[in-house]
Amino acid sequence: MNFQLTQEQEMLVEAVRSFVAKELLPHEEAVDRADAVSPELAAHIRGKAIAAGFYAFNMPEEVGGGGLDYLSQALIERELSKVSWALHVFVARPSKILMACKDEQINDYLLPCVQGEKTDCFALTEPGAGSDANAIKTRAVRQGDDFVINGSKHFISHAGHADFAIVFAVTDTYEHNGRKRNAVTAFLVDRGTPGMTIRRGPKCVSNRGYHTYELFFDDCRVPASKVLGEVDKGWEVANAWLTAGRVMVAANCVGQAQRALDLSLQWAADRKQFGQAIGSYQGVSFKLADMATQIRAAEMLTLHTAWKMDQGSMTDGEAGMAKLFASEVLGKVADEAVQIFGGMGLMDEGPVERIWRNARIERIWEGTSEIQRHIIARELLRPLLR
Ligand SMILES: Cc1cc2nc3c(=O)[nH]c(=O)nc-3n(C[C@H](O)[C@H](O)[C@H](O)COP(=O)(O)OP(=O)(O)OC[C@H]3O[C@@H](n4cnc5c(N)ncnc54)[C@H](O)[C@@H]3O)c2cc1C
Repeated sequence: MNFQLTQEQEMLVEAVRSFVAKELLPHEEAVDRADAVSPELAAHIRGKAIAAGFYAFNMPEEVGGGGLDYLSQALIERELSKVSWALHVFVARPSKILMACKDEQINDYLLPCVQGEKTDCFALTEPGAGSDANAIKTRAVRQGDDFVINGSKHFISHAGHADFAIVFAVTDTYEHNGRKRNAVTAFLVDRGTPGMTIRRGPKCVSNRGYHTYELFFDDCRVPASKVLGEVDKGWEVANAWLTAGRVMVAANCVGQAQRALDLSLQWAADRKQFGQAIGSYQGVSFKLADMATQIRAAEMLTLHTAWKMDQGSMTDGEAGMAKLFASEVLGKVADEAVQIFGGMGLMDEGPVERIWRNARIERIWEGTSEIQRHIIARELLRPLLR
């Protein structure tokens, strides 16, 4: 197997690394303290990302995106995540599900998202339906040429910045293995559509400045032309994208863990106690060795999984393994980084406390660790269970 990155990939990594250092990192502390990104800063980052050619790097070339393979995308995600989501979210990766756009949706939603003129948000989770997404209760009922949506969503990232939401609603039910299942449809719902209200959600400990919102639908009427993909086939469009997204989350975790290690190494070399650098004590240096080893393993697993996705041979279980392992490694590494920093690791004067807080969400969103284990185990046992 060839583990060598291409020259283009090496250059891409270098370019994103310097973009993060120059355009994003200088703002991280202030954004975290203010728990907000000003519209001017958001527009500035978006403009710089477009100029640098990073904007919509996840989208295919034929719609104006980066046209990159998954391995290259994972490398970019790894570098971007060395700063908080609150900032690198403006180097937008439009929901890949938008590739299901057809007819006028292409000019109204897909292309403006790729060009930085519009932003989407992905609205699936509800108060009663998190891990069990099939339990969503938001309904869309056909009335002539329209659908009328009623229900609510919560935890919807970035909805306050979004021009439209990709909303999942039940449009039918059917029986599967004796259980009632929901047939779900995805809708493109513009901000300002009568009947949809958006409210800021509770404050989150991770990624301050990157907020979640609650969406309420009260007889919200949208024309049938706003159906994304096919009616009742919402899971088909969502699932392909969600699985790939887990590998990118894994790459984000590797980048955050690497940042925590780099900071810890420097601190262990600089901080003196009992007359010596604390890194010279085995109690600290062995932590560093374990952190580096775990990060290397998470990185290899993540990049190999991205490579498999490029070959068309990645399974859901493999995507789950990458997300599970990398997010759990990040949790351990971030915690050890705090330990190595001692009291300073908990103070908001340095980035370690932020990395530790931000790390926590990674084991929850895009499918919790327990759900990843469920996906992996199901895939392992499927051929054996009858
Ligand atoms: C900051 C943030 C941003 C988010 N952004 C978005 C977004 O943009 N769009 C969106 O649609 N959603 C978003 N989410 C929702 C996110 O995907 C869910 O939080 C996640 O899927 C878990 O759902 P839940 O929080 O309802 O937890 P629950 O599903 O209630 O789970 C609670 C606990 O029970 C465990 N559990 C549940 N079922 C099982 C089982 N069968 N076996 C074992 N353990 C189980 C879980 O692993 C977890 O530990 C976001 C969430 C957060 C916190």
